[in-house]
Amino acid sequence: MVEFPLKQNLLWFALSISSVSVYSFLHILKKEKKYSAGFLCSVVLLIAGAAQAFQMPWLRFSYFPFVAALPAFYEVKTVLFVLLVFPLLSLDAFLKGGMPVEEIALISALAAATGISLFIMKRIKRKVVAGPGSGIPEADGNRQPNIGAESFSDEQGISYYLESMFKPDEEIKEILAAAKNIVFAYSVNLFTGTGDSLKLRCSTEETGTIVPLNGGIISRCLKERESVVLSDLDEKKIEIGYLSKDKIASLVCVPVMDDAFPLGVLTADSGRFHAFSSADRDILQMFAKQVMRILQRERVYPRIYRSYASLRILNEESSKLLSTLNAEVIVKNLVDGSKRIVPAEVVFFMTHGNELEAVYHTGCLLQPLDNKRAVVKGTLLEMILNNKEPVYISDVRDYRSPLMPFKTEKAGSLFVLPMLFEKEILGILVFIFEKTNALTTHQTELLKVLGNQASMSIANAKFYEEIERLAVTDGLTGLYNHRHFQEKLSQEFNRVERFSDPLSVLIIDIDHFKKINDTYGHPVGDVVLRRVAEIIRKTIRNIDIAARYGGEEFAAILIGTDSKGALKMAERLRSTVADEKFYSEKNDFRVTISIGISTYLRDIRKKEEIIERADKALYAAKRNGRNQCVLWSGEDAQVFGSS
Ligand code: GH3
Ligand code: MG
Ligand code: MG
Repeated sequence: MVEFPLKQNLLWFALSISSVSVYSFLHILKKEKKYSAGFLCSVVLLIAGAAQAFQMPWLRFSYFPFVAALPAFYEVKTVLFVLLVFPLLSLDAFLKGGMPVEEIALISALAAATGISLFIMKRIKRKVVAGPGSGIPEADGNRQPNIGAESFSDEQGISYYLESMFKPDEEIKEILAAAKNIVFAYSVNLFTGTGDSLKLRCSTEETGTIVPLNGGIISRCLKERESVVLSDLDEKKIEIGYLSKDKIASLVCVPVMDDAFPLGVLTADSGRFHAFSSADRDILQMFAKQVMRILQRERVYPRIYRSYASLRILNEESSKLLSTLNAEVIVKNLVDGSKRIVPAEVVFFMTHGNELEAVYHTGCLLQPLDNKRAVVKGTLLEMILNNKEPVYISDVRDYRSPLMPFKTEKAGSLFVLPMLFEKEILGILVFIFEKTNALTTHQTELLKVLGNQASMSIANAKFYEEIERLAVTDGLTGLYNHRHFQEKLSQEFNRVERFSDPLSVLIIDIDHFKKINDTYGHPVGDVVLRRVAEIIRKTIRNIDIAARYGGEEFAAILIGTDSKGALKMAERLRSTVADEKFYSEKNDFRVTISIGISTYLRDIRKKEEIIERADKALYAAKRNGRNQCVLWSGEDAQVFGSS
């Protein structure tokens, strides 16, 4: 330490200048922290001595910028130590009997200036470590963007959130830079990986400056999960685990842990011996925690993004599935929706009892499905129909039996998803991939969820179709009911009025049906009704419409059929029924029908008139002896058939 300047100005000058020089050299050039207090004290003494020797007391005002600047570069304890020198400078006056007021004021003002400067620097440093602009997590490690539960549906908020989470390297670099300044390191580096294969993830230095090697202290630090402070590496020739362009004499090495799981190693190095203390190690450990949180978020990010994207797809596709009661549209939406989850060729089979029909398919991997009714026997589909479980074949080459009822030569892997509703298979969705191992578990789970949703929608659609069918169908015979017949007749009547197509109507009545009931019983009567209905259905064409008109009366609309065609059809009907043998417990018997026919003519104004004319013709047939067909033609009905 330099002598306090008394009367020997010259001697003091020489001493203090040489002291400043030596400490400057040691402190600044060798970057050794322990010389900092000596250097600073000798600077203070130099100023004090100069002020006294040259009779320039104002020179002491330079203490203020000096102490104000100290906290920016030195630790608190060094600053406080330097501050103690100032009262010592007034020791001479104190010993001679009392301190002058201005000395006390100067010392107090210097202490206050140092205090304020320390306070400001502390705040600035905290901002550097966790400043809002830096994007680095705050002390609690969860820099959550301002996203509440309700705003999670806000697309902009989500993308901001995800984007902000996806700059981990920038965030880590800022942390390393802050750590470097605080512990006075040459470089601070983050290595990630496991065991001996640690890779440099981020560094305060330029790319290529730090070269990781296998093994060394950093690997051991990670394996043993212990922080290390080493002070004279150069002499001990210890392997560090990485090379730097600067010689490394001191090293702090801290493992970055996610609970018990090691993520990497944080190192700070210096070319100075004994550059780091245990306090520096503690500081670095704090930074390691910050880094760990960024790495944690980085690992969570893809999961969050995937979950978010999955939820969005599921939400959108589910709403589409729910938005219609048309099974065909549902199947199309299901296939389109699943193609957003997996890039595959898709076939959808709808079940019809034990049969499968390929109702929808995409893609070039498939042979054209000409025969839509699939022969499933011996294929994977037969197994699915029995087991009712989804099957994923990651490599179809391992599968010996036939997969599909069509060729799948170019397929690498395959996923088959049955659509179940209350244990009944409504359909089967087949995904065909060119690649092997094309699906992740996440994707199969998503497809299952979408499949479940689609199953419910298809079941709803089928239920709705069934209700609609029941509303227009006669329960006993399966033909259309009276109400639907009237609706259809209105439609057809409107059409023929506009386009002048021919149109005919038959009213069919079973002869002496009351007697059949009375003789053989009501159930036999029902069988007769069903058989006659069946004959009508089989005799007319698909485009024609047959209905149960009343008790034992039927009606048919013959589309595009003139009176000649209608008579022919009616006669065929009459003779087929007449030739049919019916059975009862008592004996076999025959049944006959009478048919009234009317054909649309220009003079007809209302659809009811066609029915009335057919009714009149039927009445004529009955009156004429039954088992015959009568075509309405003015007041004279034309009689055909025999009785
Ligand atoms: P006609 O030759 O003049 O037509 O004589 P019909 O006996 O066929 O005519 P009628 O109108 O006197 O009798 C119709 C019978 O049909 C009366 C009714 O009990 C019977 N019937 C109506 N609906 C049903 C049904 O759903 N099942 C059965 N088994 N009988 C029915
Ligand atoms: Mg009748
Ligand atoms: Mg009758």
